[in-house]
Amino acid sequence: MVLEEARENAVKFVRLQFTDILGIVKNVAIPINQLEKAFEEGIWFDGSSIEGFVRIQESDMRLEPDPSTFAILPWRGTDDGFNNTARLICDVKTTDGEPFQGDPRQILKNVLGRAREMGFDFFAGPEPEFFIFDKKDGEATLNPHDSGGYFDQAPKDLASNLRRDIILTLEEIGFEIEASHHEVAEGQHEIDFKYEEGLTTADNIATFRSAVRAVAELNNLHATFMPKPISGINGSGMHIHLSLFKNGENAFHDPNDENNLSKTGYNFLAGVLEHAPAITAITNPIVNSYKRLVPGYEAPIYIAWSNLNRSALIRKPAARTPESTRIELRSPDPSCNPYLALAVILNAGLDGIEKELTPPKPVSENIYELTKNKRKEYGIETLPGNLNEAINALKQDKTILNTLGNEVAEKFIMAKKTEWDQYKGYVTQWEINRYLEKF
Ligand code: GLN
Ligand code: MG
Ligand code: MG
Ligand code: MG
Repeated sequence: MVLEEARENAVKFVRLQFTDILGIVKNVAIPINQLEKAFEEGIWFDGSSIEGFVRIQESDMRLEPDPSTFAILPWRGTDDGFNNTARLICDVKTTDGEPFQGDPRQILKNVLGRAREMGFDFFAGPEPEFFIFDKKDGEATLNPHDSGGYFDQAPKDLASNLRRDIILTLEEIGFEIEASHHEVAEGQHEIDFKYEEGLTTADNIATFRSAVRAVAELNNLHATFMPKPISGINGSGMHIHLSLFKNGENAFHDPNDENNLSKTGYNFLAGVLEHAPAITAITNPIVNSYKRLVPGYEAPIYIAWSNLNRSALIRKPAARTPESTRIELRSPDPSCNPYLALAVILNAGLDGIEKELTPPKPVSENIYELTKNKRKEYGIETLPGNLNEAINALKQDKTILNTLGNEVAEKFIMAKKTEWDQYKGYVTQWEINRYLEKF
């Protein structure tokens, strides 16, 4: 099937793609005549060179392409249509042919398996935001490509042509785009694609980021998923809409509940709130992530949920049909590893179901404006304030550590501690501006 499709589309190279634990997409390209062999035997590679993979002495790993992920990369083709490049997302196997437990895609598959054992299919729909900046002398600048604002239209929204190009490209690779609009900040955009089963959504997020960057690049622009490139204006989040289905029906839906949320829905929500601090280390994994999670820029800071306002960590959007009943987690940002992010969120929710956790009451006030006493009265805790706090929260949460498995948890924490230590010792421009002449 895939072989035929590749031949019919003049595919000359196939990129075999996988993701390291930090969420960076890696790939190895093979000429088309190797594709059959890749399906039969897999492709061997040196796992010790990949961040968070195996040690040198056990470094032989095998990539096993998942045929359902075959896609032609429109931005790699030549204009004559005779030289196309396709990609296949791969699972990573050990020398013995077992699934490699350090592969983020496998970690998500494990949790999806747990959900299935409990009778659930997991669906997720992300809302990735990103900035588009001009390039100068081949380097990315911080000059926004346009000066539009929320939902602005052309001509102010200069980037709408680019956004159209991006969307057409995504549709060519099989995305179903639901909406796209200019975001609040200059140069900032959001493209929402249809919710899908968890593994497909994680694959889609990885593909989405590559596609957006590639199309921007073709236009001599730089697209970035860095969460907070400019201080003082909105950062880029990646809200994720979550639901579970049982026997084809939405298990979060209850028409008789005031929020249309079932017991399963409430339990799941409570589980995510319970594990929110540790989840943050995965959904907001870089030093810069925490510059976004500050008051005043529509990003969450407090661990609370709401059926109305958008200052809460979890929002229960109004659903028009039983199928669309879902909860929206608003903390993740688009720098996260989508496989690990969905794995820890789902496992936290399943934990809530298993332990029948009940969430606190929803908060209808603007939480940014609540006094400390009121927050205390409502029992509202805050999200970790920086990467170090998030790592410490992760270290204390057995459920989330178990989701990752010992080895990945250890590697992830080590990499993030190093990142934090480097940052901690770095003198920033803010300090220079503030202190150099004052002291
Ligand atoms: N950019 C905001 C964030 O950081 C979200 C803005 C919005 O989608 N309303 O999460
Ligand atoms: Mg949105
Ligand atoms: Mg948005
Ligand atoms: Mg949203």
